[in-house]
Amino acid sequence: MTHPTMGIFGLTSCAGCQLSILNCEDELLAIHSALDIRDFLMASSINDTSCPLDLALVEGSMVSKLDETHLRRIRARSKTLVALGTCAVFGGIARETGARPLKDAVKVDLAIPGCPIEKQEFLTAIAMLLHGDAPLLPEYPVCAECRMQENNCLLNEEGRFCCGPLTRAGCHALCPSQGVPCVGCRGPTREVNPASAAKMLEGKGFSPGETARRLGTFAPLGATP
Ligand code: SF4
Ligand code: SF4
Repeated sequence: MTHPTMGIFGLTSCAGCQLSILNCEDELLAIHSALDIRDFLMASSINDTSCPLDLALVEGSMVSKLDETHLRRIRARSKTLVALGTCAVFGGIARETGARPLKDAVKVDLAIPGCPIEKQEFLTAIAMLLHGDAPLLPEYPVCAECRMQENNCLLNEEGRFCCGPLTRAGCHALCPSQGVPCVGCRGPTREVNPASAAKMLEGKGFSPGETARRLGTFAPLGATP
């Protein structure tokens, strides 16, 4: 029985999303038995760098012409291309240096945000793709998950700047659950109007400039994957 072929690639990045895949220790065998991983430089020195791929996972953003050329080559050999992590989806923290998301140069079939990606969200998305289904990512904000965890609200109750109201959920409110405000690493949610959220934050004493700066760390305000 032949399995779908897959490649995992990194453009300019910290490699954290690829490491998250390698850290799926218990599930790696299952991934390996369901997919024929042909090209994964971080995990193997023996790669087929030109074969057609059913699935390409690409981490990182485009900082150089070389990144763009590399990405276009990957796109040309892949049926489905997944932008893996917030750098690939939105440009990420290197945006200020002119980094661009993958969608600026090629068609992206699926965007999985996160800095780094969430293991369970990644595994579920891959399983759904293998079954021919379109993965569903949460559209609601981190605040919804924060409420599910029954956390005290750092913004309302402690007056600290928290990007949770405007950030896409999926991390189970990881940071606020540890008492640390969300910095928006998963990028914007579509369910919230940025203008009204900015107004709400202004009402709490945060200037529009500060709000734009903090919310724009990982992705442009109001950006969509
Ligand atoms: S702590 Fe942050 S993420 Fe949690 S409810 Fe408050 S604003 Fe939302
Ligand atoms: S709480 Fe915010 S900063 Fe922390 S992991 Fe989730 S989206 Fe990222």
